Order: sequence, then structure tokens, then C-alpha cells
Amino acid sequence: MERKTENKDRREFLRGVGRTTALAAAAVVAAILAVRSSRAGRRQDETCSNLGICRGCGEISHCHLPQAISARTAVSAKVAATKR
Ligand code: SF4
Repeated sequence: MERKTENKDRREFLRGVGRTTALAAAAVVAAILAVRSSRAGRRQDETCSNLGICRGCGEISHCHLPQAISARTAVSAKVAATKR
């Protein structure tokens, strides 16, 4: 009789652990999706603050506008070419 009670307690404990793990995983996924959505929204709102002149702009390291991405790529290619 006592053994059945122990088995039942163990099963209930394992169910509780399973439920808690599933809830924690769902919370983590929801948080990741919320952060991604927030970042995407910020990128869409981004506007150029330096008349599109990326060279010497203080924003270039984290700017997501196409001209900034192009400028970073060009600088990287130039640096790689000088190392050869
Ligand atoms: S990095 Fe270029 S696109 Fe981005 S804000 Fe500066 S000038 Fe504008």
C-alpha cells in the first residue's frame, strides 16, 4: 500500500516537473519572439541622420540602412585587399 502511494507521488512530481518545464520553454520562446519583433520594428523606423554620408558617421557600426550596410561591406573589402 505504501509503495503505491510512493509511485503515485513520484508520478505527480514528474508531471509537475514536466508541466513546469513546458511552461518555462513556452515563456522563453515568447520572450525571444517579443525581442525579435521589437528589433524588427526599430529597424523599420530607422532613418538616416547624416544625409546618407556614411563615411565618418557615428552610427555606421550599428546602422541597418542599406547604404550603411553597403559602406561597411566596402570598407571590409578594402581592408581585406590591403592585407594581401
Ligand atoms: S551610417 Fe549612413 S545611413 Fe546610417 S545614419 Fe549614418 S549616414 Fe545615414
